[in-house]
Amino acid sequence: MYLPKLREGVKIELHRRFDGKIKSVTVSKTSDGKYFASILLETQDPRNKVVETKSKTCGIDLGLEHFATVTNDFGSYKVEHPKYLRRGEERIKRLQKSFSKKQKGSKNSEKARLRLARQHAYISNARNDFLHKLSKAIIDENQVVVVEDINVKGLLKTRLTKSVADSGWSKFLTYLKYKAEWYGRTFIQVDQFFPSSKLCHRCGHKNDDLALHDRTWCCPACGEIHDRDVNASINLYYVGLGRPEVTPVEQALVDDRSLYGLPKKPSCNEAGSLTVKG
Ligand SMILES: [Zn+2]
Repeated sequence: MYLPKLREGVKIELHRRFDGKIKSVTVSKTSDGKYFASILLETQDPRNKVVETKSKTCGIDLGLEHFATVTNDFGSYKVEHPKYLRRGEERIKRLQKSFSKKQKGSKNSEKARLRLARQHAYISNARNDFLHKLSKAIIDENQVVVVEDINVKGLLKTRLTKSVADSGWSKFLTYLKYKAEWYGRTFIQVDQFFPSSKLCHRCGHKNDDLALHDRTWCCPACGEIHDRDVNASINLYYVGLGRPEVTPVEQALVDDRSLYGLPKKPSCNEAGSLTVKG
């Protein structure tokens, strides 16, 4: 690459081929000592072409046990947290410890700092790669994408460090949102009061006794046995379909508000909320 301030060209690794008129180049340096050049192009945007999708709608439940549970026109599936991320986090903890033990300003301290910075960069790149690929695959496959508001989940106390889970989730939603815009898809984020986990996707009964640790439950109204995450993603999927018998957004606003100290409206579905553990 030839840059105005440099006499000679610099060897680069080209990550992606591009086509178009170069408008500007921004060079940045990361904390692990690598240089990146990002090139802004003027091009005829091929992204806005609306391509027919395989599935009309999908609902995505974000979780701790699995990164995501997805339901679309063809059924439900779960996406695992990438294992290398968990291992990488452990390595960061070790490197952090080793760095903090070194005498400040020493050569060894600088080496340890660099190792730590490299590991941070690796993890962040690996996570981004995972989030980009997953969000792109979902946008490619579905015309309507429904997700829940993650604020509720953010309140959960978990074994995974909260920041880890949070950063992944909110980035994922950001990626889904702008990719949806690029490719002409509909992105719906449901109200945080929508009880995607508590509603029985089969009969619409709301199970107020569902506890955070209940991974499966049996609907006291219709007897259906639910996997918690699959059921939640199906309810989100129904929001995308606009299925009338669940219309959970309304129902959610009725019941869950009391939990947040908001005035409770009368509900027609107060009776029979008994949990039968499946
Ligand atoms: Zn039911």
